[in-house]
Amino acid sequence: MAYLQFFGGIGEIGGNKILLEDEGVRVWFDFGKSFNMGSDYFTGWLRPRSQAGIGDYFEFDLLPRLRGLYAEDQISCTPLRYEEPRFDAVFLSHAHFDHVEHIRFLDPSIPIWCGSGTKLFLEAAEETSGFINYGEHEYHTFRTGDRISVGTLEVEPIHVDHSIPGAYGFIIHTTAGTVVYTGDIRAHGPMQEMTEGFLEAARDAEPVALISEGTRMVARERRKNLSEAQVLKGVKRVIEEANGEKKSIFYTHNRRNTDRFRTFYTAAEALGRRISVTPKTAHLLWKLIEDQHLDLPNPMTDDSISVYYRRKKSGEYQEKDYYNWERPFLDKAVTAEHVRSHPTDFIMDLDFNRFTELIDIRPQPGSYFIYSMSEPFTEDDIEDQVMRNWLDHFGLRYHQLHASGHMSRKELVKAIEVVNPKRLFPVHTENPQMFKRFFSCAEEPEKGKRYML
Ligand SMILES: [Zn+2]
Repeated sequence: MAYLQFFGGIGEIGGNKILLEDEGVRVWFDFGKSFNMGSDYFTGWLRPRSQAGIGDYFEFDLLPRLRGLYAEDQISCTPLRYEEPRFDAVFLSHAHFDHVEHIRFLDPSIPIWCGSGTKLFLEAAEETSGFINYGEHEYHTFRTGDRISVGTLEVEPIHVDHSIPGAYGFIIHTTAGTVVYTGDIRAHGPMQEMTEGFLEAARDAEPVALISEGTRMVARERRKNLSEAQVLKGVKRVIEEANGEKKSIFYTHNRRNTDRFRTFYTAAEALGRRISVTPKTAHLLWKLIEDQHLDLPNPMTDDSISVYYRRKKSGEYQEKDYYNWERPFLDKAVTAEHVRSHPTDFIMDLDFNRFTELIDIRPQPGSYFIYSMSEPFTEDDIEDQVMRNWLDHFGLRYHQLHASGHMSRKELVKAIEVVNPKRLFPVHTENPQMFKRFFSCAEEPEKGKRYML
């Protein structure tokens, strides 16, 4: 007998926690955190207490109360008694926090399987952030072509295209037939043939069940959506304009989206500028060159990459002012003064949380800002308003250029038709019911309910 159970990613985008059980073997696929995790109870600095372990999460039913799942120190303040693990493995599709974040609560002796890229992302996050700690785990990495046996289960990870490298979908062979889990996928990125290859392999496996993401399963798409190639074109256009006017360019994007990094890097190089990144991005690139498949430039040796350092109190950019992980790139330091006096040298990575640097840089009015992320969900988004206030204050011109990490509705429907599953379970979507419009085999998963395959 095989069963599927869903403990997260139900009727919401992200927070995937999918449990597959086969002849008593129990394996998780993703163990992420919701984007709106407990936002009814926690907001801003009102957060679950770390010393309470997961007690504060249980209070509001934000994590499943399952025995033999969590680390002993995480449940010591809860009514749940510690037991030896009753779960055999966790497979992670990719390193986005809505798929991995809650592994930090898990019993360290439950093995975690992920792509080698995902492992590097997790390490980089822990090394450069004071508050990210995924806990101790027994990690194993896989690549496309591997077949991993866990008891009666056999798991085939297959590379897919998404807005982070090292993303996988899974074909899982159980005693009750094959189950396919998409993870997060897109069909318009630079590696779209990987997604196509995954869907074909999924189809050939004649799955009894498909667990599909549905981020963009919406009645009407309000955001404009470009391909990565169109983003590159747009960025080049902005640089050409700014070159003509001898103005600075700032941009912001998700650091882990290395395709987007490459887009900015390529555009800058083609039009006679260098790219200036944060020490965090430099550290991440330096980690990721370990994975040669990703083919990223080495921030230590690549002359097209500079690293922007914030001025510390001494004002002298001395090694001792910075964290250990920030120091290796000080040779290539770019300062606020330099950015101001050489507006056409760089395009500069400037995260929203680092906007205060604009006070030191004082860019010329009419400089450019490229927001390379998705637009806010709502019109009264406070962060968006604050960003616009800063842009107005410094007279920066706003451009938004972004390609989604997810399939459009049309692409998604086509993909599911290709796979042709017997049963369809939509996750990672706000509109699971909408799948029924297109597929009679679609079921709206209920949290915690056991579905026999
Ligand atoms: Zn994702």
